Amino acid sequence: MIDAVMPTYARTDVAFETGEGAYLTASDGRRFLDFGAGIAVTALGHCHPHLVDALRDQAGKLWHCSNLYYIPGQEKLAQRLVDATFADTVFFTNSGAEAMECGLKIVRRHFDQAGQSERYRVICCTNAFHGRTLATIAAGGQSHLLDGFDPVVGGFDHVAFGNLNEMRAAITPETAAILVEPIQGEGGIFPATMEYLKGLREIADEFGLVLFFDEVQSGMGRSGKLFVYEWAGIEPDVMAVAKGLGGGFPVGACLVREQFASLVPGTHGTTFGGNPLAMAAANAVLDIVLSGGFLTGVEAVATRFRARLEALVADHAGVLSEVRGFGLMQAVKCVGENKALVAKLFDHGMLAIPAGDNVVRFVPPLIIEDRHVDEAMTILDASCRELGESSA
Ligand SMILES: *Cc1c(COP(=O)(O)O)cnc(C)c1O
Repeated sequence: MIDAVMPTYARTDVAFETGEGAYLTASDGRRFLDFGAGIAVTALGHCHPHLVDALRDQAGKLWHCSNLYYIPGQEKLAQRLVDATFADTVFFTNSGAEAMECGLKIVRRHFDQAGQSERYRVICCTNAFHGRTLATIAAGGQSHLLDGFDPVVGGFDHVAFGNLNEMRAAITPETAAILVEPIQGEGGIFPATMEYLKGLREIADEFGLVLFFDEVQSGMGRSGKLFVYEWAGIEPDVMAVAKGLGGGFPVGACLVREQFASLVPGTHGTTFGGNPLAMAAANAVLDIVLSGGFLTGVEAVATRFRARLEALVADHAGVLSEVRGFGLMQAVKCVGENKALVAKLFDHGMLAIPAGDNVVRFVPPLIIEDRHVDEAMTILDASCRELGESSA
């Protein structure tokens, strides 16, 4: 008989009961160092006191009222995001996929309103991930996401990630936008070069295309800046944000430049998106992430973690073949099965996440300190040694 919970996940046999900072405690008492952060979501670790206070305070006042009325937390959060980014206006959602859908609808409607409804196609990259809705699996374009869900939503073309010539060659009179993850996440932690991101901006400008970045995973401080595009010294026109935005509370956002803000009353909406609880959580996350020195601290600990991972790969050449990533979005590529390393780390009390291209991904909370890196490296070293011995 089928489980009451629909069996769409291959779950590890553990249930967590409590969390504190970079640690989780399971119902059987085991304690884990959490370098997965709920897939890059719990940006400030578990039960950060400022977030707990903010949510508790809001929970005693008002949970939900719908977007038929003004929500002061939305106005505050939107203004802060506008002030901190390229964007002029923000639409709040419950998830990354919905932030993506909002951006895709904005692109289509922008050209429609400009009398160019023939321009609706979006050029995406192979190996991309943009969510699990029908449109976002089409944008991702990977066969394992699309398999069984035909007909594929139309309007998406795919070119190799990192290749400006292919991007340029794929543009037709029907092209409306370029969509990329500045650091491909699910696909296997592939950071774009800054030259590539700059080149995309130039191409978008030359052909009058919307430059749409998906920073659902890479954004909210994980790179050591609030968003990865800042490192490249360019700005997108539309951007999807989610994961770290609510620090564990489900919330996403679509950030848009005024020129492309084609949605007016009646064209788009959401029941839950931007509700008072979500806004309290996200505003509390921003309080910390935007506070003085926080992002430089992220950059510094990421640099030390990266150096240690490079040394680890050098020490265990039979088990690991490569390290790649950017900021606190790092991965090691495995010689054997990545799932074997994830399981070994789990046995040693550490959580990490498999991703594409046979990598194990590390997306720890942004609040980690050197002692957490030390602990992670001790576990990684022991795990790689055991895997090396068992395969020798
Ligand atoms: C996780 C992710 C999404 C989808 O977010 P959901 O909240 O799961 O819908 C979209 N894009 C990227 C880059 C992601 O990592």
